[in-house]
Amino acid sequence: MSHKINPYEVAIKQLEKASSILKLDQQVLEVLKRPQKIIMVNIPVKMDDGTIKTFTGYRVQHNNFRGPYKGGIRYHPEVNLDEVIALAMWMTWKCAVVDIPFGGAKGGVACPAKYLSQAEKERLTRKFVEMIADEIGEEIDIPAPDVYTDSQTMAWIFDEYSRIKGYPAYGVVTGKPIELGGSKGRTQATGYGVAICTREAAKVYNIDLKEAKVAIQGFGNVAYYAAEKLYQFGCKIVAISDSQGGIYDPNGLDPIDVMNYKQKTGSVVGYKNIRKISNEALLISDCEILIPAAIENQITGENADKIKAKIIVEGANGPTTPEADEILFKKGVLVVPDILANAGGVTVSYFEWVQNMQKYQWEEEEVLRKMEEKLVKAFYDVLNVSKQYGIDMRTAAMVLAVKRVVDAMKLRGIR
Ligand code: GLU
Repeated sequence: MSHKINPYEVAIKQLEKASSILKLDQQVLEVLKRPQKIIMVNIPVKMDDGTIKTFTGYRVQHNNFRGPYKGGIRYHPEVNLDEVIALAMWMTWKCAVVDIPFGGAKGGVACPAKYLSQAEKERLTRKFVEMIADEIGEEIDIPAPDVYTDSQTMAWIFDEYSRIKGYPAYGVVTGKPIELGGSKGRTQATGYGVAICTREAAKVYNIDLKEAKVAIQGFGNVAYYAAEKLYQFGCKIVAISDSQGGIYDPNGLDPIDVMNYKQKTGSVVGYKNIRKISNEALLISDCEILIPAAIENQITGENADKIKAKIIVEGANGPTTPEADEILFKKGVLVVPDILANAGGVTVSYFEWVQNMQKYQWEEEEVLRKMEEKLVKAFYDVLNVSKQYGIDMRTAAMVLAVKRVVDAMKLRGIR
């Protein structure tokens, strides 16, 4: 059921809700509902066995009123145009919520990412860059990692783009390896940001982090670093999962040890023979804090009512549907929305870009401190709007973001 929910429709509903609170002009709303540009390419790739396979790739540029387009590229078998449009739109709002001078974009290639060899992934990435090279650039559109892409993928993007243009274009992509102009702290940034938002949300609800049971859906880059930081804060990480399923231990798990196990065996399942639970069961398991950090449409009208957590912090993009949002708001569950909760990643991407443009490198401590300042400020900006209007935090974040984008649009003017 849940897999049929169209993320673009979800994104439109969220925008319309914010728009009615802001009493936006219908014509302005029409501008924001649509991406400014959609690039679609079919990428032929020579596979290791000599056959040729064609994969469809997208780059959607939603809005650049506040600055160059910004957003990750994901490799996943289920990537489709509507999903990429929604993700691009969320990037516009995300950059506006944390007030960094970027617009929103997203890219994706529909491919069996998990089953591609490194060499196949490299050829796919380089070919994709070649096909979209005139649409991206340091001051135009700056990609970054997302689901199943990482710093190595970004290194290929940097190299291929630089080769085509004939100069080292460090600022064309973020999330690069440190050796190639990447920023210290970028790898951890998204997950740490999720943990910082969790800490602030816990203050609002008077939840003592040292007592708090946290269930985390996913164990990729975002989930892992969120878990690591929350473990440091003293939380009990009771559940962790991956695409194979999850594990639940009421006494708490050590995320570093679980990661070691996953690296050896390929999954968290089986770790110390701890009770296995499904990804669905994890969402409604016994915990105070729930962190969906995998993919879209996990918390829906069907399971929202059964959720026991008091706080949900969205590490993933789009994990909660509008129907679920309403149920959770009525239940008094505090949902820290994706465009705020996981904005630590793009915030450090912005710092990486600034360092590249300045040809200078900052220390990790400075990067993470600046990220925390921006995120904490954004958290309370959003909380204040939510109190002012009596609305949930997602709608409040949208109200704040959409207003900033519309202000920029009005100041620049439309011919
Ligand atoms: N893919 C990440 C996101 O969804 C990071 C984007 C970026 O750093 O540009 O926020």
